[in-house]
Amino acid sequence: MDAAVNLPGLTNLLGFDLEGLAAYCEQLGEKRFRATQLFRWIHQKGASDFDQMTDLAKSLRDKLASRACVTALPVISEHISTDGTVKWLFDVGAGNAVEAVFIPETDRGTLCISSQAGCAVGCRFCSTGHQGFSRNLDTAEIIAQLWFAEHSLRKRFNQTERVISNVVMMGMGEPLQNYNALVPALRMMLDDHGYGMSRRRVTVSTSGVVPMIERLRDDCPVALAVSLHAPTDPLRDQLVPLNKKYPIAELLDACNHYLEKAPRDFITFEYCMLDGVNDTPEQAHALVELLRGHVSCKINLIPFNPFPASGLKRSANERVKAFADVLLQAGLITTVRKTRGDDIDAACGQLAGEVQDRTQVHVRMVRAPIVVKGASPS
Ligand code: SAH
Ligand code: SF4
Repeated sequence: MDAAVNLPGLTNLLGFDLEGLAAYCEQLGEKRFRATQLFRWIHQKGASDFDQMTDLAKSLRDKLASRACVTALPVISEHISTDGTVKWLFDVGAGNAVEAVFIPETDRGTLCISSQAGCAVGCRFCSTGHQGFSRNLDTAEIIAQLWFAEHSLRKRFNQTERVISNVVMMGMGEPLQNYNALVPALRMMLDDHGYGMSRRRVTVSTSGVVPMIERLRDDCPVALAVSLHAPTDPLRDQLVPLNKKYPIAELLDACNHYLEKAPRDFITFEYCMLDGVNDTPEQAHALVELLRGHVSCKINLIPFNPFPASGLKRSANERVKAFADVLLQAGLITTVRKTRGDDIDAACGQLAGEVQDRTQVHVRMVRAPIVVKGASPS
């Protein structure tokens, strides 16, 4: 695994999972257990200054200071919603930005993070998809979103306890098309010396990259959400172009295979409700036929968050309810996603991260109730 080198000549230690950091320490002639100490300082305490790490020998701290760094992504903006949702826009260079969203609830704190700048899958209803693909984030850039959010929120809430209990890979990008960077980041979330999260509380959401679902099952099984959005191949081909490569039957087979090792005994199917496209009672019945008795699952109906270029509309609430009722009556566990952070455009599919389009970023800032610009990494 490569660490991001984003200061001239300095290796960003946010790019190393514990194994990677141990290998790095060995290269410096240090014992492996030093890596554990260093890892804990960085991820559990949020330290970025080697001089803070007082239980490391001065000679090691000096060595690290001359070769390494712990560097988060520059924050372009931070918006706080009236419901407590916080959205950060991070600069990833060359005019690209990615977003992360913190969603506080009574019993948990969830962080939604990005895996790519843009996305190559190009789903019809997704504004990230419309933006096209810029590049993969590296491991340091993925974990930097969690590192920054966790430690800046702890400071804000004046809290030493963990603030973020759950991570969902539901921000910008298709995580399973950035597999090599994703897996070390997942391991850092799960590591007891890192964020110590339960596998059940880390969710990878995918549009259905079948071979990578298979690999994730063996390499690092976590909770899995699959963006289904249609009960038939012809419709799914139009909404999620990746379906032409990996059609529904193959996807469901991969889901069943994944369940053999998954930390939860169900797959979450996401289904974005699009007016007049995939929201009829017939389509609800077709979905029942497709799933009932075939895959252990929960269905999460997502109200579509419209954006002008999509040409699509959100299904009316009664329509969503009628659709949900068909599924529920057939015995499929179904929930309708609450939208959070609407006033700051933090909802699903609105994470477009256009820094190229400064006017749009500006408009968003004006609409946000509270704007704290230029928040600095802890
Ligand atoms: N690429 C992955 C994860 C990021 S998208 C995936 O597709 O699963 C996270 C979720 O947001 C997906 O379920 C996606 O279908 C949904 N989504 C995308 N655009 C949306 C929109 N405009 N309104 C509502 N949900 C949307
Ligand atoms: Fe990419 Fe997911 Fe958006 Fe589809 S929904 S374009 S896979 S980010």
